[in-house]
Formats: sequence, C-alpha cells, structure tokens
Amino acid sequence: MSAAAPAPAPTGPAATRPLVELRGVVKRFGEFTALDGIDLALDRGEVVVILGPSGSGKSTLCRCVNRMEAVDAGEILVDGVPQPLEGRPLHRFRAEVGMVFQSFNLFAHKSVLDNVTLAPRRVRGVARREAEERARALLDQVGMGHRADAYPAQLSGGQSQRAAIARALAMDPKILLFDEPTSALDPEMTREVLATMRQLAQAGTTMLVVTHEMSFARDCADRVVFMDGGRIVETAEPEAFFTAPKTDRAREFLSSVR
Ligand code: ADP
Ligand code: MG
Repeated sequence: MSAAAPAPAPTGPAATRPLVELRGVVKRFGEFTALDGIDLALDRGEVVVILGPSGSGKSTLCRCVNRMEAVDAGEILVDGVPQPLEGRPLHRFRAEVGMVFQSFNLFAHKSVLDNVTLAPRRVRGVARREAEERARALLDQVGMGHRADAYPAQLSGGQSQRAAIARALAMDPKILLFDEPTSALDPEMTREVLATMRQLAQAGTTMLVVTHEMSFARDCADRVVFMDGGRIVETAEPEAFFTAPKTDRAREFLSSVR
C-alpha cells in the first residue's frame, strides 16, 4: 500500500485546518438551485460518504469540488487556499483532486498503462520511464498489474473502475472523489471495486464518496452526510445515522434503499 500512503502530516496551521472546506456553496442551473448553501469540511485522512435521493445534488457537489462546475456563491478551499478560477493555477488545482465517475471514463484508444501515465507525463512533465514504473505499482495495488497492456474495451466494468482509480492516484491527489463508482456494475464487480476503495480508506486516503452501497458507508465512513433538495439535511457517524436517523427524510430514504 506504500503507493497510496498519504503525505506526511503537516505541522503548524496546516495540521489543524480542514483539507477541503466548502463554505456556503450555492450552485444554480438557470432558475433551479441545485446546491443551496453547502457547508462541509473534510479533515486529512477522513472518509465522508454522501447519501441522498436522486436529484439531491450529490454529483453537482462533486463536480463543484473538482471545479468542473463553477459555484455561484460561497467558496471551496483546498488546504486553506480558495479554488483558482482559470489558467494554470486551475489546472494545478484540478490535479490535486482525483475523481472516479459512475461511467467508465478511460481513454478508449490508449492502453491501461498509458491511461495511468498520461496526466503525470503531460501535466507534470514526469519522464516516461518514471511514470510507467509508478503506474505499474499503482496498477498492482488495485489488482490490475496483469492488465497494464490491455485496452479499455477488453476490460470488465470492475477492471475499468480499478484502472480509473489507479489513474486518479497517479497524480497524487490530496483528495479522491467517487461519484457512484459501482452503480453500473454487477454485484461481483461491485465487490472488487469496493475492496479497492476500502484499502484506500484504510491507508488514510482522504475520500468523498457518493454511493448507494450502504455496507461501504457503514464500514468505511468516518461521517455520513445526507443530502436532499440541494442541502445537507443530516450529518452523523455511520452507526448513529443507520440506527437512529434524526430526520424523517433520512428515515424515508433509508427505508427506500434497504
Ligand atoms: P444527484 O447526483 O444527487 O442525483 P445531481 O447533482 O446530478 O443530483 O442533480 C441535482 C439537480 O440539478 C437535479 O435536479 C438535476 O436535474 C439538476 N442538474 C444537474 N446538472 C444540471 C445541468 N447541467 N443543467 C441543469 N440542471 C442540472
Ligand atoms: Mg449523481
């Protein structure tokens, strides 16, 4: 697991401030308010699982955190620094936030190895040999070492997602975002992807995970955040959330997914 080992813990002010902080984040699409004042802070090494019904704003939240969407109000800080709006600083910022999506988003015309080395080589200027060595270590870590030379079309869905995780890790992101990474997978493939995510969580990776996999939320989350209608309705430790949700909306949601 050395490849995913978190950076040494900083001392001084950096040790106490959150790694990622959303302050009053609002996101609108025309008249529609998709995020309605989100306050959320993740500490270094924390695993936060976001639950909520379809349309509650979970994907929009992820997309705002890695700045695929600009926010309309509020701010998002990473390591105490506000997100830059454009240019090089924005590219550098994006590299600090890794994201794994529901749909497999590997480059179809590139091998698994090339998918993993592409960003370090292009964005960071890492030499091919060094990038490939690191990529192979990451692929081993997610159980994909034997598929380094395969093309995405030759992979199962579970293998694709594990390759996508290795690709995200290759940029040494400060935080990994997962937006329903297993919802397009059958149960067996879901298990293998969740196992990889569990390993990352145990290795101290900071993770924001949108999922309907309640077992992952129960076992791996430090905190569960329940969203509805673009707002955070409830935040709790998993055990408390699953055994005694505080709001009717959370209770309804839980009875619908169980
Ligand atoms: P979730 O991931 O929780 O299912 P989303 O974040 O995808 O929810 O969407 C939240 C709401 O914002 C939904 O009502 C959705 O229709 C709307 N929405 C999301 N993206 C866009 C967009 N690009 N344009 C217009 N409306 C959008
Ligand atoms: Mg979504």
